[in-house]
Amino acid sequence: MKISEITQKQKEFFYNEKTKDVNYRIKMLKNLRECIKQEENKINEALKKDLNKSEFETYMTETGMVLSELNHAISHIKKWSRTKKVVTPLAQFHSKSFIKPEPYGIVLVIAPWNYPFMLSMDPLIEAIAAGNCVILKPSEYAPNTANVLKEILKKVFPMEYVTVIEGGIEETTELLEQDLDYIFFTGGSKVGQIVMEKASKHLTPVTLELGGKSPCIITKDANISLAAKRIAFGKLLNAGQTCVAPDYILVEQEIKGDFIHYLEKYIKEFLGEKPLENENYPKIINEKHFHRIQGYLENQNIIFGGKGDSKTLKIEPTLLEIKDKNADIMQEEIFGPILPIITFQKIEDAISYVKSKEKPLALYLFTNNLKTERKVLSEVSFGGGCINDTIIHLASNHLGFGGVGKSGMGDYHGKNGFDTFTHYKSILKKYNWIDMPMRYMPYTKLKAKLVRMFLR
Ligand code: NAD
Repeated sequence: MKISEITQKQKEFFYNEKTKDVNYRIKMLKNLRECIKQEENKINEALKKDLNKSEFETYMTETGMVLSELNHAISHIKKWSRTKKVVTPLAQFHSKSFIKPEPYGIVLVIAPWNYPFMLSMDPLIEAIAAGNCVILKPSEYAPNTANVLKEILKKVFPMEYVTVIEGGIEETTELLEQDLDYIFFTGGSKVGQIVMEKASKHLTPVTLELGGKSPCIITKDANISLAAKRIAFGKLLNAGQTCVAPDYILVEQEIKGDFIHYLEKYIKEFLGEKPLENENYPKIINEKHFHRIQGYLENQNIIFGGKGDSKTLKIEPTLLEIKDKNADIMQEEIFGPILPIITFQKIEDAISYVKSKEKPLALYLFTNNLKTERKVLSEVSFGGGCINDTIIHLASNHLGFGGVGKSGMGDYHGKNGFDTFTHYKSILKKYNWIDMPMRYMPYTKLKAKLVRMFLR
């Protein structure tokens, strides 16, 4: 079926009002939950093939996250979908005011390859929870996961409710030409720009979940060993191919030696002496990205790791000491297991460095000093982050997740996701038993006085 026909079918389905029924949405999301549980082995196999993800990592960062999002949505949809009464100003006497949530209609979800299951399913679940129909375009770089997504969603939803369209630029371009009601894009900023430009033709609202360079700042009063352990965890997950992975380190000069010592210790503890041979260590998605990441190592001061295996597409966790802050690696998102380390003398210097760059998607601060914590949180703009940890802020259904500036616009997860895919219709209902004459012509001095009394 042609893409334009699919869009048309979805529009017809949406206009039959079925998805406005909250119980229907709940039923469909419960069916989805059952199907995901049944197909867990297939999901594991697909992610092993696409990214060499272990079953453990797949559950922790993909399937488990999706099930948690599903459970949260299922138990909150009724509350979120309720019409809410709000206060009416006295000047509007006698009326009542309320806000009625309504779905947008047809939502296009464009997903990337790095968490190909979770980053397709999470926005889809929230869009369905809010009452929309969904067209999902998974990444062509994770074809095995795209297949499983298609299989699962086909089993649960009729195609006019949810459709998966596989393909690359050509298919996405055609999808973006349709007159859709919402576009939710996760990916790089270059494609994000294309998406926004195309969306502007139909004035379709967009959420852009982009990337960027997410810093880790470690001050001398931090728990250095624990900081190194948690940074190693965040960086090694999916071999650094995580949008909120620590991209680079800013460590206070005095503790640099200790910090690097612990970082090396934990990398070895997690992956062994030969990480390239560790069967649970994810691979780089494809040759293009493998060579891109390896390219960053040229002419750099490698202090740990540095080797890659072009057959398995694995790259060792690698630490670099950065002398030239203008090096290529400090300009682009790394998206791989390389961690550049820069030292600073004063927290003000670390803050200025981060502020000299684009607003990051995430920031991680390791400190036990409350004054430093307040200073960084108040002076630096970033999407979200953690104090004394990495990554895990995105695992909470109660924290919205999204970027700011060049790292994205809009957010999702939990209620924020429901809000993203919902238009809140504001209604003022006026009663007819009284009709205050104040606003009507002819305007008199008395009316002018009354208007000034009510409107201030
Ligand atoms: P990408 O931008 O290359 O691709 C994302 C999607 O866009 C894919 O489905 C792809 O098919 C499609 N696409 C690619 N080129 C296109 C074009 N010219 N026109 C229309 N569609 C096109 O991103 P990627 O390489 O899949 O993912 C990596 C990037 O995504 C990184 O920058 C990372 O930080 C970011 N990311 C962000 C988040 C987040 O939640 N903020 C999550 C994961 C990844």
